[in-house]
Amino acid sequence: MLIEHTSLTEVASAILAKAGAPREQAVAVAEHLVEANLKGHDSHGVGMIPSYVKGMLDQQVNPHNHAEIIKDGNALVSLDAGTGLGRIVGFEAMDIGIERAKQYGISCVALGNAAHLGRIGAFAEYCADHGLVSMHYVNVVGHDPMVVAFGGRDRRFITNPYCCAVPRPDGHHVVLDMATTTVAAGKVRVAHMQGGSVPSQSLVDENGVETTDPGVIFGPNPTGAMQPFGGHKGYGLMVICELLGGALGGMLTMQPEHPRRGATLNNMLSILIDPEAVGDLASFDQEVGAMIDYIYASTPAAGVDRVRLPGDPEQESVAKRKANGIEIDPNSWASVLNAAEHAGLGKTTVAAMANLLDG
Ligand code: NAD
Repeated sequence: MLIEHTSLTEVASAILAKAGAPREQAVAVAEHLVEANLKGHDSHGVGMIPSYVKGMLDQQVNPHNHAEIIKDGNALVSLDAGTGLGRIVGFEAMDIGIERAKQYGISCVALGNAAHLGRIGAFAEYCADHGLVSMHYVNVVGHDPMVVAFGGRDRRFITNPYCCAVPRPDGHHVVLDMATTTVAAGKVRVAHMQGGSVPSQSLVDENGVETTDPGVIFGPNPTGAMQPFGGHKGYGLMVICELLGGALGGMLTMQPEHPRRGATLNNMLSILIDPEAVGDLASFDQEVGAMIDYIYASTPAAGVDRVRLPGDPEQESVAKRKANGIEIDPNSWASVLNAAEHAGLGKTTVAAMANLLDG
C-alpha cells in the first residue's frame, strides 16, 4: 500500500504519543522515522514503531529522559542518554557538539545509553547543515547479538553503523551512512516480511554456511547470523565502531557481562570538525566541488545510468517518495496496527488516519 508521507507522520506520532512519548517528542521521532522511509531506508522507518512501542511499554526506554552531561572537557563532552528516545537525545548531543566545534574548531561527543538512534545519517546531515564535517562511530547493544565475527560462526555483534558527512554549501552534502553488515538488520526484517531473500554475503546458517534466507534471523527458529560487509575490512570497521562507540563513547559493548533485555540501545562517539578552523573555507569548498565534478564525470559501467556519490540515492528517493507516496508492505502495516492496539489506540482509528494513495 502507498501512503502519503505527512499522514504517515501523523499515524506514527499518534501511536508513539499513546505509548508514552510526550507529544512534541512523539512528533520529532515520527518525522525521523518517516524521513528514513522517504530516504529509501524502510529498515529504519515506521517499521520500527512496534519495537519503539514495546521499549516504552516495557519501560526499557524512558521517553521523558534527556541527554545529561556527565563529563565536560570543553571540546570533549560525555553524555548519558538515560535510555531517552534516540532522535531526541541524539539531536541534543549534536547541538552540544556543534556549539563546541564552532568554538574550538573540533569537538567530540560521547553519547551513551540512547534508545535506538534510527538512521544515523540524520545526525550527520544536521551537523553538515551547520557547515561541519562529522564522523559517527556507533555500536548497538541491549539485545542478543546477530552478527558473526570475520572467520567465526557464532554471533558476537549487532549491526554497528558508521557514518561520515562532508558539508556542501548548496545543501547537497556527501553522506556515507551505513551498517557495517552487508545489509542492515531492518532490511533482513523487511525481506522476511515480504517473503523475499537478501543479497549474497549477507547471512550464514547455523553452520556458518552462506544463505540468502532471512528466516535464519527472523523466522521461528533463528539459528543463523548476519555477516560484516567486505570481508575482513568491513569486519575491522565493525570492531572499531564497537570499541569507539561502545567502550569509549558509551562504556557498554556487546560482551556478555552487560544486560540484554531485548531493547535496542545505541552508543555513539561523534567527532565534529569545522572546516573553517582547519584552513581556508573557500579553498576547501572549491576543492571538494572540483573532486565531486570529476567523480560525476566518470563513464558509467555497463547497465549503470550514472555514477553517484554517497547520499545521492537518498536524495533521489526523497524526491520520488514525496511525489508518489511511501510503499508499506502489508505485513509491516499489520505490525504497525498491532503496535497501535498494544499502545491503546484502535486499529480502525489509526487506519483511518492514513492517506492511501492507491485506494
Ligand atoms: P545502504 O547500503 O543502503 O547505503 C550505504 C551508503 O552507500 C549510503 O551512504 C548510500 O548513500 C551509499 N550508496 C548506496 N548506493 C550508492 C551508489 N550507487 N553510489 C554511491 N553511493 C551509494 O545503507 P545500509 O547499510 O543498509 O544502512 C541503512 C541505514 O541503517 C543507515 O541509515 C544506518 O544509519 C542505519 N542503521 C542504524 C543502526 C542503528 O542501530 N541505529 C544500525 C545499522 C544501520
